[in-house]
Amino acid sequence: MTNHTAGKHVYSFGGGSAEGRADMKELLGGKGANLAEMANLGIPVPAGFTITTEVCTYYYEHDKSYPDGLQTRVDEALRRVEEIMEARFGDPDNPLLVSVRSGARSSMPGMMETVLNVGLCSRTIPGLIAKTGNPRFVWDAYRRLITMYSDVVMEKAAGIEPEEGEGIRQQLDRLLEAKKKERGVSFDSELAAEDLEELTASYRQKVREVLGADFPDDARDQLWGGIGAVFGSWNGRRAVAYRRIEGIPDDWGTAVNVQSMVFGNMGASSATGVAFTRNPATGENQFYGEWLPNAQGEDVVAGIRTPNPLNEEAKNEQNHHLPSLQEAMGDVYGELVDIRNRLEQHYHDMQDIEFTIQEGRLWMLQTRTGKRTGTAALNMAMDMLSEGLIDQRQAVLRLKPAQLDELLHPIVDAEAEEGFEALAKGLPAGPGGARGQIVFTAADAVRWAAEGKQVVLVREETNPEDVEGMRAAVGILTGRGGMTSHAALVARGWGKCCIVGAGALDIDVKSKTVRADGTTLREGDVVTLNGTRGLVYAGELPLIDATENPRFQEFMGLADDIRAMAVRTNADTPDDARTARSFGAQGIGLFRTEHMFYGAGSEEPLFALRKMIMAGSEEERRAALDELFPFVKRDIKATLEVMDGLPVTIRLLDPPLHEFVPQDPEGRTRLADALGIDGAELDRRAEELHESNPMMGHRGVRLGVTFPEISEMQIRAIFEAAAELLKVGTKVFPEIMIPVVGQVSELDDQLAIAKRVYREVCDATGRNEIPHLYGTMIEIPRACITADEIADTAQFFSFGTNDLTQMTFGFSRDDIGGFVPEYLDRGLLPVDPFQVLDRDGVGVLVKMGIDKGRTTRPDLKVGICGEHGGEPSSVEYCHIVGMDYVSCSPYRVPIARLAAAQAQIRFPRE
Ligand code: ADP
Ligand code: MG
Ligand code: MG
Repeated sequence: MTNHTAGKHVYSFGGGSAEGRADMKELLGGKGANLAEMANLGIPVPAGFTITTEVCTYYYEHDKSYPDGLQTRVDEALRRVEEIMEARFGDPDNPLLVSVRSGARSSMPGMMETVLNVGLCSRTIPGLIAKTGNPRFVWDAYRRLITMYSDVVMEKAAGIEPEEGEGIRQQLDRLLEAKKKERGVSFDSELAAEDLEELTASYRQKVREVLGADFPDDARDQLWGGIGAVFGSWNGRRAVAYRRIEGIPDDWGTAVNVQSMVFGNMGASSATGVAFTRNPATGENQFYGEWLPNAQGEDVVAGIRTPNPLNEEAKNEQNHHLPSLQEAMGDVYGELVDIRNRLEQHYHDMQDIEFTIQEGRLWMLQTRTGKRTGTAALNMAMDMLSEGLIDQRQAVLRLKPAQLDELLHPIVDAEAEEGFEALAKGLPAGPGGARGQIVFTAADAVRWAAEGKQVVLVREETNPEDVEGMRAAVGILTGRGGMTSHAALVARGWGKCCIVGAGALDIDVKSKTVRADGTTLREGDVVTLNGTRGLVYAGELPLIDATENPRFQEFMGLADDIRAMAVRTNADTPDDARTARSFGAQGIGLFRTEHMFYGAGSEEPLFALRKMIMAGSEEERRAALDELFPFVKRDIKATLEVMDGLPVTIRLLDPPLHEFVPQDPEGRTRLADALGIDGAELDRRAEELHESNPMMGHRGVRLGVTFPEISEMQIRAIFEAAAELLKVGTKVFPEIMIPVVGQVSELDDQLAIAKRVYREVCDATGRNEIPHLYGTMIEIPRACITADEIADTAQFFSFGTNDLTQMTFGFSRDDIGGFVPEYLDRGLLPVDPFQVLDRDGVGVLVKMGIDKGRTTRPDLKVGICGEHGGEPSSVEYCHIVGMDYVSCSPYRVPIARLAAAQAQIRFPRE
């Protein structure tokens, strides 16, 4: 922070200029920075100011108090707004009203919602009525202020958590409903001034009754109450929960925006709306949005009325009878289209915008980079690339690696769908297909999902309190709301299947039922959602994988051109290997022979393995190994064959021995018979295998050291399989990987066996050579520390970061359930280190291992084969420390390819 900005704390915007800029998001929050940017571009923005995130940080570091002088700065900034707007805050004759808006760096559900119309009180109401000559509008604004303020400032920010349906907002809404009923009207826009005035009196009464405090009747109290609530909401439960999910650091803080009000509720020539510069669901290059005449702020998003379409392109089954903005206010629409074009040209990306029209005059209230589905992100990136709006690198950065997941995700089988009648139709807010049991509250969604159930969350509409439940659900279905409703925005951000505004559904949260078309579904019943078409089905429909999309291939080609690391896969079977190849894998980074002892067809090899484990002498063991040999060789050969032309890293057996001892009496008897021993002897040998700490026990290379014949058998299988394939022209590149190595002596011990067997196989098959590498898995801290010595023998390193994380933290992988969740909840760990590679600890060991290894052997080949190999941030780290490749499970290969390309763009290396 440079000196002249330190302690400035308040940044003004409006009147054709601003003190801030779009690149000041850290200080001003996303909303404030972009309001400033728009003001600087000469786009009409109501004047206002931003209180910086530094004030939020200060607030939490100083016992929830403000820095000295803040009040003066706010007063000064307010005076500037008053000058531009020619009205005064709290003034009885010519009152200025403002909104108080939260604004973190990126928009965050769970943060305090905006309070509009701040500054209306007994002192200012008569003046505003006189000034506007529109009492209906003033009372409407006042009842909205009471609702928003009591809800977000007096209840939510104060940490009050009412029972479902008993929040102050719902209680006030019931008074509104009663009033509408009494007057025989269906929309709030039809209530008269007197009705609204009466309502505000009963609202204030209700607030006092429910919250035990008066709604503040002073403009300044309202303003500072709002500001305090924004800062307070940063540490609210929901905001904290959202930060955990999204990995947003707690110390970022939020900014507060105070902005003069413009009114969309002043009559028929006033309106409010939300739009995307391109279609956020499909990516199509069409201006897309919704608006409502005579409405304010969140009305469009909250789904109180079905919003009107912005233009022809935005018309759909629900709204086609309503006039578009294009039709109703052609001139204003034209202005808006101009602004849309300017914003896209300026930001080089799709924008999500908010606007208000006050008596025919257009005002912009927000612009930000729009959330989009993976499909839309892909289409927009490729379109903007060909439009020349962005270059190849920018295009590659436009998809988050996690969004690829969504592109490869299931969709409802279109053929099967033909035969089914949809229960209801809504708007296609989040793509793909989802199938699950219905639940009606966010809490139930979380609970059921924790029990391993797939749930679809059904709500009338969603709000920030539902975020955790929405996350837990496989799909989201709402009865109300449009394409810009909360549910739609959140689902789209996550690429989650979502249908909103399915108006035919009669959702009853109390009785946990949903009715439509004569069918009643209860909690736990299964529905299938087609989020791409907006169709809801009762019951189960088949889902299929979205297949090869040429645009996807093209996009991945761009990424492949850029990346510096290769991407391999962890595959144990020819089938997995084939799948991974089709996803672009350039080899196998981890092939585990253990696989053949699990699942279908495992009976015979497993029995041989058990005999090997329970053998009492070398002779018995060799006999069992002879039986095992053909299975091992067959498996290796089949996989090498599929990977024709590509390297395959084969890890020698690393089984937790005791796990393979049969527990059932029948299995034990059969095993004892086969070994020619009695039950007691078997029990004794099993007992001997018992270890107090098998994770650090007799496993990996230690097994090969004590029983060299086990390594010998496997190495022979590898070389024989390779030799046979070479003979028929298959190109094989096996890499023998020794697990659980901590010192070079272990590796040398095994190398002697490998060399001997290699010679024997070469001689027997008449070959001069069989291409191969000999190396090790690096998964023990000591191996990292002595990597220079280890690289004397090892030709390659593959970091086994699952075990390395376990050993570095001293966290047993199998037992972390007992404490890691609490570490995460309480912020002792930023993320689960088994999912995201810990750069500061484990990462340092990895880097040390690579650097030391390469001092001995400059051409040492280095990769990773832990779970981290498919996690974008870990892939980035692997790139930074100079790995040659990452290896991950087959379906994550595209994610790793993209993550590797993005890493190269952000951290270029030779
Ligand atoms: P969110 O982050 O939830 O979108 P916003 O601060 O953008 O919250 O505000 C919520 C709604 O209120 C939006 O529709 C916005 O356009 C509207 N709004 C905010 N400030 C003003 C204002 N000064 N005048 C008119 N409408 C406003
Ligand atoms: Mg909002
Ligand atoms: Mg907004």
